[in-house]
Amino acid sequence: MLEKINMFIDGKSIVSQSNQWLNVTNPANQEVLYQVPMATHNEVETAVSSAKSAFETWKDVPVPVRARMVLKYQQLLKENHDTIAEVLAEETGKTFEDAKGDVWRGIEVAEHAAGIASMMMGEYVENVANGIDTYSIIQPLGVCVGITPFNFPAMIPLWMFPLAVVCGNTFVLKPSEQDPKTPMILADLFYEAGFPRDVLQVVHGGKDQVNQLLNHDDVQAISFVGSVGVGEHIYKTGTDNLKRVQAFTGAKNHLVVMPDANKSQTINGIVGAACGAAGQRCMGISVCVMVGEAKSWENDLKLAMQKLKPNYWKNKDSAYGPLINKQAKTRVEGLITEGVESGASLLLDGRNYHVEGFENGNFVGPTLFTDVTTDMSIYENEIFGPVLCLMHAETLEDAIKMINDNPYGNGTSIFTNSGAAARKFQHEIKVGQVGVNIPIPVPLPFFSFTGWRKSFYGDQHAYGKQAVKFYTETKTVTSRWFESDIPEGHSPNLSINLR
Ligand code: NAD
Repeated sequence: MLEKINMFIDGKSIVSQSNQWLNVTNPANQEVLYQVPMATHNEVETAVSSAKSAFETWKDVPVPVRARMVLKYQQLLKENHDTIAEVLAEETGKTFEDAKGDVWRGIEVAEHAAGIASMMMGEYVENVANGIDTYSIIQPLGVCVGITPFNFPAMIPLWMFPLAVVCGNTFVLKPSEQDPKTPMILADLFYEAGFPRDVLQVVHGGKDQVNQLLNHDDVQAISFVGSVGVGEHIYKTGTDNLKRVQAFTGAKNHLVVMPDANKSQTINGIVGAACGAAGQRCMGISVCVMVGEAKSWENDLKLAMQKLKPNYWKNKDSAYGPLINKQAKTRVEGLITEGVESGASLLLDGRNYHVEGFENGNFVGPTLFTDVTTDMSIYENEIFGPVLCLMHAETLEDAIKMINDNPYGNGTSIFTNSGAAARKFQHEIKVGQVGVNIPIPVPLPFFSFTGWRKSFYGDQHAYGKQAVKFYTETKTVTSRWFESDIPEGHSPNLSINLR
């Protein structure tokens, strides 16, 4: 009998009553691993109402108590790091090293959340007028919702619920239906760390379940990470319903290669950033802009990429794994065909890639195009596969202009040995995460993570440090304490000035 993935609702681990179940398959061989339910309307309703009533007591649990629980959580995540990574590798296809990285980047957020007391400190000014003090206090919002993508099933849920809950909120997580087991382990450990079971609810599903949450009166805030089209829908619907929304969306990340860069370091960085996780990273490199003489490095890049051999994660020599599903493989191979048809030169073709013993896997080999132009569909679309497009620019100014004209602004990078070029790039580029001789500049949680233009929708650029601001509300109190009654004949203050 196939394993059925449970949900965590109203403090219990339940088997859904839904009659809609999806198969979750191993992307390396299509073996059905387990089934995930599309939660019923009532199940989603129960999750939200349980989270709402849990908030009434959870918000008053002292901050240090909440912080200690998250500290314990961080310890449990570390102890179970490899076990989580194994499940993650099996359901996503990531290599074991990459799966461990996915878990580790999430653990860092739990670590950061343990410092919640100092992040929730307010401000105080004594004597703003005679005998009057003003101070701000920071309070949680209520029920928050998280909707997460398939490509980081540990890190991205961990961006959200530990911080939201430690701030005093309760949380409903709707993880990706494509790899639902990893987030269930994360939730299990969360309860084991001492968090009451009803402060975090996990429901499974897709569009319908998400829409129910977006339209629910008792949901205060929505965090989303995923593709642009879905993110735009979530942002528009959530804000139409007057909710607080942050939506991290898609990307088209460019890496600029200056001719003065260290050649071997640059090529090494590009190859990993373009093909790591089979190119299924929002911060992966999809376009390299070769400036001036750097164009002559194309063949070296081709030779380096050619060496990469994707395989099943249990094969220790695997450079990267398969794409998440068959549709993704068909889509990526279709885009490669469009690239050829539109006139780009295909230096390496990853279509119809054969992995012995895994002939049914969703593997795409490393793919390299050159002579790509901005009107081609391989440039316009986020490919989300191990496909790198090479472009050429005469000057750094031209490269910067190309990147700033692109509708996405998630990540970018420059490889150069010139401090002046790096400084100019950092100053003029209109992108959220910038790397200098670093191909994937994902910051740590004590910084903020954000995207520009179509890569982020929301008014609170949030993850890590800023996430506390997203998940809380500030209340400013102005206070005076009286020792005596008002004297006879005293005229009332009719202005807004403090007296
Ligand atoms: P996706 O948009 O298909 O799915 C994300 C979530 O939305 C899932 O939980 C899914 O069930 C739900 N969903 C899907 N269709 C929906 C619909 N029509 N209405 C409501 N909800 C819906 O994204 P994905 O394929 O899982 O993830 C890959 C995408 O995520 C890429 O575009 C990638 O760039 C992006 N991403 C962005 C970041 C970032 O920080 N900006 C990080 C990781 C991934």
